[in-house]
Amino acid sequence: MAQAATELVADFVEGLPDAPATNIDAPGVDLDALLRPPPEEPGDLHGLLATVRDAAAVATEPAGPGYLAFVPGGGLYSSAVAEMVARSLNRYSGFAAFAPALVALEEGVLRWLCATFGLPTGSSGGLLTTGGSMATLTAVVAARQAHLGGDGDDVRQGTLYLSEHTHRCVAKAAHVAGLHPDQLRMVPTTPDLRIDPAAAAAMIAADRAEGRRPFFLVGTAGTTNTGTVDPLPELAAVARDQGLWFHVDGAYGGLFHLTERGRARMAGIEHADSLVLDPHKTLFLGYGTGALLVRDAATLRHAFAADAHYLQDVGDVGSLPDYADLGPELTRDYRGLRVWLPLHLHGVRAFREALDEKLDLARWAYDELRQVPELELPWEPDLSTVVFRRRGPDGADPDTVERLDRDLLARINATRRVFVSSTRIDGRTTLRFCVVSHRTHHDRMAEAVQIVRDAVAATP
Ligand SMILES: *Cc1c(COP(=O)(O)O)cnc(C)c1O
Repeated sequence: MAQAATELVADFVEGLPDAPATNIDAPGVDLDALLRPPPEEPGDLHGLLATVRDAAAVATEPAGPGYLAFVPGGGLYSSAVAEMVARSLNRYSGFAAFAPALVALEEGVLRWLCATFGLPTGSSGGLLTTGGSMATLTAVVAARQAHLGGDGDDVRQGTLYLSEHTHRCVAKAAHVAGLHPDQLRMVPTTPDLRIDPAAAAAMIAADRAEGRRPFFLVGTAGTTNTGTVDPLPELAAVARDQGLWFHVDGAYGGLFHLTERGRARMAGIEHADSLVLDPHKTLFLGYGTGALLVRDAATLRHAFAADAHYLQDVGDVGSLPDYADLGPELTRDYRGLRVWLPLHLHGVRAFREALDEKLDLARWAYDELRQVPELELPWEPDLSTVVFRRRGPDGADPDTVERLDRDLLARINATRRVFVSSTRIDGRTTLRFCVVSHRTHHDRMAEAVQIVRDAVAATP
């Protein structure tokens, strides 16, 4: 079985450079046939794997070098190998006592991350989650517990501060954590799309004067829209002065901290009470791997530790945490190996250099696209996201410019060599290159820029 699966995977990985960047409208796909229920009798492995291979081809290709949309997920192969091993071992890692040595491998990665981001040794801690959204939910619940306690009236008075560029998962987490939409406060941003710390401070003070209980301030280390880093030192100061939990969303950008430029841009991140990272984005791993780091691991235990009679035989491993006590999950897959193996196999420098390459590629694309007279690039990239849009002919009305931008996006994606997505900034459609895949190198960026030039030239 492993051999047949490995052949499929090898063909897939080798085909990635030439695979279409998007193939979702492939003709002749019979979804009804694929929806069929499992049969009573056994099937044939080779036939079933062929079905999987064909089904996988009907997709956008996030693992390929041309994926510049949303936030790419490369699916580093060494991580997939680790995953096969971990799934086959199927060790239970919710409580350290069940597999202390394997939990130590996972915990080693988390402690390294805490140290890398300057969180205090000893008291800090973390948890590998399925993604940034679950990490964010875990952080919001821990902060709610620490600042508002379990009393419904106190929870109802809590207020949380974010900006229009904060990822949707924060509002979603607040909703799941039982907060009402009117408890979310939208802090204005400055023209460079960064949250305005002075405005945040004023809103917090005004809410407090009205008897509300401000408890959570979000800064983003690399927004999904534009890769912009919020002013973290100033936000940390506001949170400290006003007694709020300071949360940093680094799901897209945080891991650029491994590079010198990223570290410089993210000064202040060490003040976070909680920090979300997404190894399935910026460590290039397969989907399903997020991380939450917290300044004080006791806050997670306080929010999530639960006892039950059927757990009475579970022992303690003094020096290792029980992950089941740090988040909402009891049973979890043994997530550590898919992060541990790539880091130990390739070494941290390989990741640092790959992330540096993405910063270089984005900078290069920005400089190139700025030379196209029909385009405007109002915001310089902080990290690896480049945003651009049509200037529009002189005196063109907004609808015309909007149509030109949509047309540009369609022409770019019709090449199937790159796949690009758009967002809205200042109420206008704005295209973006998000360079994150470990498989994207200069040749594909040069091609992407040429594709944009050609698409602009082809537009009437
Ligand atoms: C992707 C992203 C998230 C959500 O993470 P998931 O892993 O998709 O759940 C949160 N914040 C930012 C800034 C992101 O880019």
